[in-house]
Amino acid sequence: MSHEGIRIVSEYESRRMAAEDERTFHPDAFTPTKVRVHITEGTGAEIEWKDGHLSSWSFDWLRDACPCATCHEAREALGLQPGEKKLETPQLLPMYKPKVRPLEATPVGRYAIRFKWNDGHESGIYSWEYLRRQCRCFVCKAELGID
Ligand SMILES: [Zn+2]
Ligand SMILES: [Zn+2]
Repeated sequence: MSHEGIRIVSEYESRRMAAEDERTFHPDAFTPTKVRVHITEGTGAEIEWKDGHLSSWSFDWLRDACPCATCHEAREALGLQPGEKKLETPQLLPMYKPKVRPLEATPVGRYAIRFKWNDGHESGIYSWEYLRRQCRCFVCKAELGID
């Protein structure tokens, strides 16, 4: 019997995943009324939803939550959640890393937004539904039971 491929999830994580699966949304929850992408300020993006909810994410977080297949697989392999940073090995001489920000943000049809990041990556298509499900405001955190 082989146990290969079985991922050990913590109790905390499995509870959080169950809470996430159980969450149901009204279609208005996936319809943005206002989308603000603060490219010049370099801070992040905010979406106001038709159901009155407000979500915001930093660019750093959005880059680490890139939903493209490559980034998704890389996170799966490391057991990371969307937006979660992998632990970097400390270096003697810290390398200069430019702050993550998009050079461009473009709507994709009526269902998504796409960022062209300053590191050259641009294959992630962030659907409204994906973003709303990734909202981590205090209301959503309470619903998901995370702090
Ligand atoms: Zn990606
Ligand atoms: Zn929220």
